[in-house]
Amino acid sequence: MNLIDMLPGQGPAAETVCSRKGCRTAATTQLLWNNPKIHTPERRKIWLACDEHVQWLQDYLNTRDLWRETRPLDAAPARNTPEALG
Ligand SMILES: [Zn+2]
Repeated sequence: MNLIDMLPGQGPAAETVCSRKGCRTAATTQLLWNNPKIHTPERRKIWLACDEHVQWLQDYLNTRDLWRETRPLDAAPARNTPEALG
């Protein structure tokens, strides 16, 4: 079973919805992960999770040694705004 391939990526439609397959609940948490086999060490993939599934997704990543960080969704990383250029 390779759930990672079945999950939606960072497609625009999935941006604020839980990444758990089949879940349409608004996400409250983001899980940052990295797969050393396919990603460079500094790369971070992000899954979004609702309150119900954050623990499930974190356990999934932890089991595979992919989990790096869990943070609230509103602590959004690197959002590109025109103002940031100044
Ligand atoms: Zn969910």
